[in-house]
Amino acid sequence: MKLHEDVKAQADELTLDRSRPLMLVDADEVILQFASCLEEFLHENELYFDMASFALTGNIKRKADDQAIAAEEIGALIGQFFVEKTEHQPPVKGAPEALASLSERAQIVVVTNVPLQQREARIRSLKKHNMDYPVVANIGLKGAIIRYIADMVDTPVYFIDDLPHNLTSVAQEADEVHRIHFIADERLAKLLGPAEDSHHRADSWDDAHAYLDRHLADQGF
Ligand SMILES: [Mg+2]
Repeated sequence: MKLHEDVKAQADELTLDRSRPLMLVDADEVILQFASCLEEFLHENELYFDMASFALTGNIKRKADDQAIAAEEIGALIGQFFVEKTEHQPPVKGAPEALASLSERAQIVVVTNVPLQQREARIRSLKKHNMDYPVVANIGLKGAIIRYIADMVDTPVYFIDDLPHNLTSVAQEADEVHRIHFIADERLAKLLGPAEDSHHRADSWDDAHAYLDRHLADQGF
């Protein structure tokens, strides 16, 4: 799997300590609210999110006729969502506190698929919510970037994401990385079981925090 040059360049700017555990944390639906904010955006555009399954395709519908918008329209729509909403996504309950506590024992990097053009806005937003951690704006599946960053330390590495295909991608490229499947939105969490390629499923930061604390202690950290 090839690492995109623009993504690699951001990772090369990280200054990591080889001897401290590393947590690579997704943003949307893990530490920042995504679904609820997307619903607000859709509402403003005469659309709504049906939440019939854990997918955007087929579930974004027009208020006017309840018809799903075409799959090809979704990319542009989500692009516009990030333009308008990146700075306004509220934090997930408990995320800032859990990360602050975990950062006493581990280094934290946010690995997000926010478009590169909105990376600065995302950094500002995270900072505003007391989550001032380095941010890598990835493109596509996360296996390659997680492999690249995981090689920067000699300690346990953790990866936390809501999307099963990212967890699978990391399993394929960096199987030694400990993978946590996390879905913050309660309605979405109900639609999906634990991802096959995850070691643990968490739907709250209380749970994830306790699990990570325990796992770190078991590894001697
Ligand atoms: Mg996400």
